[in-house]
Amino acid sequence: MNQHVVVIGAGLGGLECAYILAKNGLQVTVLEHDKQIGGCLQSFRRGNTLFDSGFHYVGGLREGESLHGLFKYFQLLDLPWLMLDETNFDEVVIGSQSFPFAFGHQRFAETLSQFFPHERKGLQTFVDTLKKVGEHLPHTFSPQHADNDLSQSLFAQSAYDFLCNTIADPLLRKVLSGTSLKMELSRETLPLYVFAQINNSFLQSAFRIKGGGQQIADRLAEIIKNEGGTIRTQSTAVAVSETPDNHLQVSLSNGEQITADWVIADIHPTSAVQLIENSQHVKPVFKRRMNTLTNTFGMFTANIRLKPGTIPYLNRNLFIHRPQADLWQVRTDTPQSVMVSFYPEQDALDLLTPMRWQQVQQWADKPARKRGEDYVLFKQQTVEQCLQLTEQYLPHISSSIDRVFTSTPLTYSHYTLTHQGSAYGIQKDWHSPLTTVLSPRTPMPHFLLTGQNLNLHGILGVSMTAVITAAQILGMDTLYQQLDVKHWN
Ligand SMILES: Cc1cc2nc3c(=O)[nH]c(=O)nc-3n(C[C@H](O)[C@H](O)[C@H](O)COP(=O)(O)OP(=O)(O)OC[C@H]3O[C@@H](n4cnc5c(N)ncnc54)[C@H](O)[C@@H]3O)c2cc1C
Repeated sequence: MNQHVVVIGAGLGGLECAYILAKNGLQVTVLEHDKQIGGCLQSFRRGNTLFDSGFHYVGGLREGESLHGLFKYFQLLDLPWLMLDETNFDEVVIGSQSFPFAFGHQRFAETLSQFFPHERKGLQTFVDTLKKVGEHLPHTFSPQHADNDLSQSLFAQSAYDFLCNTIADPLLRKVLSGTSLKMELSRETLPLYVFAQINNSFLQSAFRIKGGGQQIADRLAEIIKNEGGTIRTQSTAVAVSETPDNHLQVSLSNGEQITADWVIADIHPTSAVQLIENSQHVKPVFKRRMNTLTNTFGMFTANIRLKPGTIPYLNRNLFIHRPQADLWQVRTDTPQSVMVSFYPEQDALDLLTPMRWQQVQQWADKPARKRGEDYVLFKQQTVEQCLQLTEQYLPHISSSIDRVFTSTPLTYSHYTLTHQGSAYGIQKDWHSPLTTVLSPRTPMPHFLLTGQNLNLHGILGVSMTAVITAAQILGMDTLYQQLDVKHWN
């Protein structure tokens, strides 16, 4: 009988692990709490408009780039990807000034050198460093651990120090940090690895998907099922325990129990350790450690349906910042920055701004849609503040709106049980990489972790991590061959 693996959570990480294991002949059951799979990849429809709840774009999808080899393996390359504008895929707006990000490392450095000729050398060092980190990515999958020395040392370095040591001009530092709603910029904690690996992939190339991020989840699910795997929605895992014959038993909220040889939790580590019951292997100190990890910020999103024909589609993202904004510190009073992302072939766009759990915590005990007038008012005020920022660039935005749908960190915590509604999971800290960059292994034998809380968040990070988690069962030699890593660059 093939080994049975239960995967808790049908987010990208859980689905990719299930894909790898099902393809390798293991019996896989994926349990998803929500009625829809995908986690942060979920798309949803309001009338005729299809919105995304989380994911908006990916980097490094072309041959030889960071995500290409992984998405080739996961059979995701033929989805309807839409390349963003090569010479301006992200535009950073600070007050009345505007700076285009071009993709291709040299073109990126050259474009910004025209605005900052005195920083030509610094920009070259900046792109060279990012490129080097990106080129090292395939070594992550090397069966020889020694090859991972560079990632380990970059996890122990400060992203902010790197930026300050490389670039002297404060405005250019701000511009180079200006698209980083993709991660939580924090002077005190952000490791250089996270900053460099994610930014590098977008400097290679950038793509949106036509028709919603849900297609990524649906494609993986289809293949898992074709390989004999099972995906069950509205199935919440509430406990994992060891059986006397060295198996694991997963209990569901409906009282059902499933026996497995391995369990993979694609959920927040705090939630994962809460599931562990009666384990002689898991000491309280491990649970305490998981419970005290800090989370990154959550996100406020305004999904906006526009009146037809009012604002033309932009094939780029806008990152609009208040002139005085300190991009390396999240403020919790008024939004300092907003990301504007358009939907291809629809009259719609999203506004996103960071939001901390503390800002919404007072409504956490109330059921969804019954959180009261003050919560509704809070969301309306946040929409208005985001619109005011956006008006600097799109002056007619407010009069162009047909409907607005909003989500806060509470929405994530409700639909995907994400701890504190955190957008990118555990905050990695360069001072203590050994405790904040988690291993897929837990002290409970055969109970593994995966997903954005481990090495790196985002589509690239979660895909890398899924391979590393699945390798705990299959061995990295096997996956190194299957991924065809030797031919990636
Ligand atoms: C607003 C926002 C915008 C983003 N934009 C981008 C972007 O543009 N590009 C990019 O690369 N990344 C982006 N990201 C990040 C990226 O989407 C995530 O890093 C990634 O999708 C996380 O995948 P995951 O599998 O780790 O977790 P999740 O997507 O959170 O999946 C976890 C799943 O587990 C389920 N679950 C939880 N508890 C249980 C339980 N007890 N039993 C059963 N199921 C359970 C949840 O319902 C969920 O489906 C964005 C994230 C957010 C929040």
